[in-house]
Amino acid sequence: MPTIVTIGEALVEIMRTERDRPLSRPALFSGPYPSGAPAILASCAARLGARVGLVATVGQDAFGECIRERLVADGIDCAALALRPDLLTAIAFVAYRSDGSRSFVFHLPQSAAAQVSLDQVPASYLADTRYLHIMGSSLSAGEALRETCYALAAAVHQAGGTVSLDPNLRPELMPVERIRAVCEPVLARARIVMPSGEELASLTGAASAEEGARMLLERGIEMVALKRGAAGSTLYTPQGAWEIPPYRVTEVDPTGAGDCFDAALLVGLAEGWEPHKAGLFANAAGALATTRLGPMEGTFSRDEVLAFMREQGRPLP
Ligand code: ATP
Ligand code: MG
Repeated sequence: MPTIVTIGEALVEIMRTERDRPLSRPALFSGPYPSGAPAILASCAARLGARVGLVATVGQDAFGECIRERLVADGIDCAALALRPDLLTAIAFVAYRSDGSRSFVFHLPQSAAAQVSLDQVPASYLADTRYLHIMGSSLSAGEALRETCYALAAAVHQAGGTVSLDPNLRPELMPVERIRAVCEPVLARARIVMPSGEELASLTGAASAEEGARMLLERGIEMVALKRGAAGSTLYTPQGAWEIPPYRVTEVDPTGAGDCFDAALLVGLAEGWEPHKAGLFANAAGALATTRLGPMEGTFSRDEVLAFMREQGRPLP
């Protein structure tokens, strides 16, 4: 049975092959590439050596097969991956602009990905679960998925496991009040929160990262892992804060960096590492994720991440 479980949207990305081709005009695409923040996290954590399970739903179609094959190849436990013959697999069409920004067309709330229920989770599936990770994006993809996230968070919390939340919802996608409302039932059971600076501000209303982290720690969160892109990360705990310096890379595509950071942090903590050590491993996995184009192409094996850390002169302590 898996020790790290994540739940949420598994989808395929269909990407423009050239920059600055708006999705409203005919132009070339490439894909399908397996994606979805929870699926990327699962792939990364499994490749880093953890026993990982993904609770998700895909359609019984070629795109669903594409996702399933990749998850199985990465060693993810797919016992709670449902295949729906009556629904299409979720799709994201993505266009990149020269400035690095992206635009999307999502086929998600109407897709198989939004239909995740407790019924698809085998009875003993959560027996060994020590970490359950939930992404904010999964709380906005539809009521069935959201309610199942809440139910799993309650079950794992009740059983003494650690619930973690990456509130990866941006204010331009959802009003701030709504972000707080959908995250609250998870936050109430979470020990770890992994936001970007903007997400921490949305979640808490705080003017600075320090204040936002303090607010979360005061309500019982045990670790706030603040992701700061090329500047690295900061880990806030009741025992103190650690600045974790970044690893240097040439960024090709930032997609998936946050998900790989989350995955590596959980893998490290699950192995009993000190926060600083897990944070370095997470920064390295996040940095490496930006070096490949495509959502899940930036997940690396544990040996590759460790070799990268040594090459950069900052090996795993
Ligand atoms: P997203 O949700 O878009 O995947 P995020 O905001 O959750 O991203 P980022 O801060 O972009 O997460 O990236 C996560 C981590 O990956 C960072 O904390 C950092 O350690 C590492 N990282 C990301 N981009 C770079 C970069 N350009 N150079 C070095 N490290 C990076
Ligand atoms: Mg993020």
